[in-house]
Amino acid sequence: MISADKAKKIILKSILPLKETELLFFPSCLGRVLATNIKSKENTPSFNNSAMDGFALSAKDTSGASQQNPSVLEVIEDVPAGYVAKKRLKAGQAIRIMTGAPLPKGADCVVMVEETKKTEDRRQNTELIKIFRKIKPRENVRLAGEDVKKKELVIKKGALLKSGHIGMLASLGFHKIKVFRKPRVAILATGDELADIRKELKPGKIRNSNSYSLYAQVLKTGAIPLLLGIARDRPNELKQKIKKGLNCDMLLVSGGISVGDYDFVKDVLKDLGMEIKFWKVAMRPGKPLAFGKIGCVPIFGLPGNPVSSMVAFEQFVRPAILKMSGATDLFRFHLPAIIKQDVQKKKGLRYFLRVVLENRNGRLFASLTGPQGSGILKSMILANGIMELPEDVSCVRKGECVQVTYID
Ligand code: AMP
Ligand code: MG
Repeated sequence: MISADKAKKIILKSILPLKETELLFFPSCLGRVLATNIKSKENTPSFNNSAMDGFALSAKDTSGASQQNPSVLEVIEDVPAGYVAKKRLKAGQAIRIMTGAPLPKGADCVVMVEETKKTEDRRQNTELIKIFRKIKPRENVRLAGEDVKKKELVIKKGALLKSGHIGMLASLGFHKIKVFRKPRVAILATGDELADIRKELKPGKIRNSNSYSLYAQVLKTGAIPLLLGIARDRPNELKQKIKKGLNCDMLLVSGGISVGDYDFVKDVLKDLGMEIKFWKVAMRPGKPLAFGKIGCVPIFGLPGNPVSSMVAFEQFVRPAILKMSGATDLFRFHLPAIIKQDVQKKKGLRYFLRVVLENRNGRLFASLTGPQGSGILKSMILANGIMELPEDVSCVRKGECVQVTYID
């Protein structure tokens, strides 16, 4: 039996990122892993512009301005966003400017419209504004390149593309993006007791739920799930169905991996040439867990109990799929939380308990979802977090600090 940490290390060491990429129109890259570095070809913004609706002017013209003695400037032009001022400012002049419009020549700052007062010189038919304080150079000016500089490395290869990335790609003018292809992950359920969910249940049978929770987990990790159906607990049938999964990038086999009389998965995998890298992990739930490769296809023998299968996926398969997808960020964030009840545990095993996380006045609290048996699938749907208790503790007390991950 090996530790959960060791198991994770062994798995990740043997997973290789896929090399193949595809070229996509950029909004379709959401949730995909970037296969090249994105370097900006230009400054963004590409020109100095106004951050406010107001008046562009030279800061020098307001050097003596105060509430009692405002500077009075002549408004010589209007420049809306999307247009360039035709005139150059001279001393004593201002240009009415809208947010995003290029800063006119001769201006070095912008005063907000709310800080000015309009007057008119009727005789000369000119518009005047009063400014009641000294405006600093660069005030309310967005400088060229203040968001992104030309040649800057903006998004690194291996980034999982989120909404902000999509906006940034648009802003930089990148429309065809190279992303890694999605791994294809085959899922095989095993067990004589399993019934197709569309069929009526006969005595002694249960519905195959693992295939579908794994399907959803694979999908959510950004890979393509492929259902291979159910194999009965017969070595030959298992062998045939497992072979089908070897066309994919990864194979998940659920059930039949423990020490029961009908648990043939491990032997069949060995027969097919798999070197079993480990078989049991010191954790709860999810102790029976085998991992190895046939050819270059990584294979997980996941525990049959529905919660064990999901927890083992979350801990080991998810980071493995992410690594295979080319992603650089493989793990969820660990956060400290305060446990709301005493929890007993067996020393020597790492526990992954399903918890409800709540934020109370900025502090995170965790409470168990209820019974934690490996067949209590409800514990998964009630949970928004997993609490990880280390091997060397035998209990935690109410009010102690524990490590949790938010699993959404
Ligand atoms: P096993 O590891 O095959 O002995 O299975 C352990 C437990 O998980 C048994 O109670 C099985 O009935 C249950 N189980 C195995 N596979 C599935 C599945 N695909 N869906 C739901 N329960 C399962
Ligand atoms: Mg079984």
